[in-house]
Amino acid sequence: MKIAVLPGDGIGTEIVAEAIKVLNVLDLPLEMESALVGGAAYEAHGHPLPESTLKLAKEADAVLFGAVGDWKYDKLDRPLRPEQAILGLRKNLGLFANFRPAICYEQLVGASSLKPELIAGLDILIIRELTGDIYFGQPRGRRTAVDGHFPGAEEAFDTMRYSKPEIERIAHVAFQAARKRSKRVTSVDKANVLETFQFWKDVVSEVGQQYPDVALDHMYVDNAAMQLVKAPKKFDVVVTGNMFGDILSDEAAMLTGSIGMLPSASLNASNQGLYEPSHGSAPDIAGQGIANPLATILSAAMMLRFSLNQPQAADRIESAVKDVLASGLRTTDIWSEGTTKVGTRDMGDAVVAAITKKTTKG
Ligand code: NAD
Repeated sequence: MKIAVLPGDGIGTEIVAEAIKVLNVLDLPLEMESALVGGAAYEAHGHPLPESTLKLAKEADAVLFGAVGDWKYDKLDRPLRPEQAILGLRKNLGLFANFRPAICYEQLVGASSLKPELIAGLDILIIRELTGDIYFGQPRGRRTAVDGHFPGAEEAFDTMRYSKPEIERIAHVAFQAARKRSKRVTSVDKANVLETFQFWKDVVSEVGQQYPDVALDHMYVDNAAMQLVKAPKKFDVVVTGNMFGDILSDEAAMLTGSIGMLPSASLNASNQGLYEPSHGSAPDIAGQGIANPLATILSAAMMLRFSLNQPQAADRIESAVKDVLASGLRTTDIWSEGTTKVGTRDMGDAVVAAITKKTTKG
């Protein structure tokens, strides 16, 4: 089982180190190889996604990714910015389905900014299409950028587009995921204003006819944003396009208390995947040893389950994370009165210890 490890920038290196520690105690035949990506790769090779990194990722069964980006790269031309590495990996590996589970752990109910009764027991799955929409549409407004900006320009534009096969395949993913859960899908669009999303709605409905056992409803994105904070437990599987999914999944992330808790998986048609925390490189706290590594550790668990076919190992990690939270250990982002504040490494060590303890007992 080959894993390409791409820690990236900022807290990326700190949190991925903890996930590797956890993977290493599972006693699995994992082959891990690291490479530079993002700003770190730009500094070393002049490009955020060097050929060698892409090759490693393509040849691996799965990619474990930290995060990329830093404000200091904001002035670079867009193709050289760290974030382009993620878009390049998604495109080259054909990663079209992004799974973002938002689960509220019992012990963290108090860390959410919403009332406990609204989020206790929350377990929703946002499925975001990753390869189409306005992020990849042509034509795009192209001007000669100066320091990444367009002085004197009167307009800029990006074009929203989706093809039928792109919508069909993500719709199938959503209906199949719903079959393993509560058999409900909400498709989020903006069909009242955008042609692209009227088309999206029509195609999702058409695919839905092949899944008579799954209930499908449609919601406009503005209403979905509101309902997510008003009554999040009304949702189960939410499927949406690239841009709406980007925004709604971050909103859903915060329901659970901290973005530092949320894993994600991006899969292609053959279940090869890229696994990364939902958050970014957090330059504001990088190097301080205080980042929460749990989203990355839980991403490693998703990797074992979805791409490496090791569901039991995934269960062991997830159960160890619950044990650690139950023991009262918290990184700063999820800390509350009466719990014990720990740093990134201590949190990783605690998960390792919880796994080892259970293994010894078992
Ligand atoms: P961010 O997610 O990096 O940080 C937002 C806030 O959440 C910050 O206050 C940060 O300290 C906190 N935070 C994030 N992860 C945390 C963790 N594990 N533990 C504790 N606190 C955590 O988003 P941002 O500040 O908007 O962006 C920073 C950089 O990351 C930018 O360059 C952006 O482009 C990039 N980014 C990268 C990815 C990615 O690599 N997939 C995703 C989003 C943003």
